[in-house]
Amino acid sequence: MLLNIDAGWIEKRLNDGFSRDDLKAILLSSDAEADLLYSAAREVRRELFGDRAFIRAVIEFANTCRCSCKYCGMRTENTEIPRFTLDPDEIVSVAEIALENGIKTFFLQAAESEEYNAEWLGDVIRRISDMDMMVLLCVGIHRIDDLDYWYEAGARKFILKHETSNKELFEDMKPGFLLDDRLRWLRILREHGYHIGSGPLLGLPGQTVDSLADDLILMKDLNVDMSSVSVFLPARGTPLENYPVGDVDLGLRFIAAMRLYLKNTLIPATSTFERLRKDGQLLCFGAGANVITVNMTPPRLRDDYELYSERFYVGLEHARRTIELAGLQETTESDLLGE
Ligand code: SF4
Repeated sequence: MLLNIDAGWIEKRLNDGFSRDDLKAILLSSDAEADLLYSAAREVRRELFGDRAFIRAVIEFANTCRCSCKYCGMRTENTEIPRFTLDPDEIVSVAEIALENGIKTFFLQAAESEEYNAEWLGDVIRRISDMDMMVLLCVGIHRIDDLDYWYEAGARKFILKHETSNKELFEDMKPGFLLDDRLRWLRILREHGYHIGSGPLLGLPGQTVDSLADDLILMKDLNVDMSSVSVFLPARGTPLENYPVGDVDLGLRFIAAMRLYLKNTLIPATSTFERLRKDGQLLCFGAGANVITVNMTPPRLRDDYELYSERFYVGLEHARRTIELAGLQETTESDLLGE
């Protein structure tokens, strides 16, 4: 049974824990209830991290993909988009620009590409790590030996989004892949020393509030260090190109639920919120987020990294202004985490 949410309700759950029904109640909360939840989420963030947030820089370095995810413009069947792999020197020079601008976390993101090998990426990681930057990877599933190689090169964090905890939906959306394999892979990453990140794509066709509650429980079970939610936006040339966008307000409630339930996790204000609503990323910070990612993919290529169509590209000025408007102070990841 879903209960009315008030300050006492929230405090009791923060002390005693949240049931699955409690998580559903958060996701289904009224606007007035959501305001209380956002306020409590900001308080949890304040207690754990202070009123601080950090900026990381992402470069999307390869968009060739062997996968056929139905929601993604880079799926292998999409012959419309030009494919690219960046030159290592260009990747490193972008990292240098990020560092000159005070950003100390560099996020190397790519589709599940077979255009580069472990040594190629290891060399890039080592060069950036030697600049005293934190290296975060989001490059899909590779060989276990590669994980160790990249860890030795200096990578410490790895994001592998589970997209949905619903097995049937996952296997429909990602043909040829099994949810169990992806979860096993997240656990392997942890065993090999990485901080791990995961999260759902909110608004997939057929997704339910029950399955979103299960996403939260799954992330708790995985003990993620980083948790995120993106709101579905259709990409041209995909089986989902005519499907409606996801619900931003539900996404904001999901962020608050992550902060209240998972507590000690890094939560990004993702660009899909800003793409769908002006000041959407500011609203994410208001719901408990504490990270924002600046897109530093070279402008000549970034439209070809088509996770969804007509992307919003977060620039440094926008990121800094959003942190300031949220009443937060900018810091670095290592300072925030005391690493
Ligand atoms: S979501 Fe990732 S793995 Fe799936 S098709 Fe797109 S780039 Fe490839």
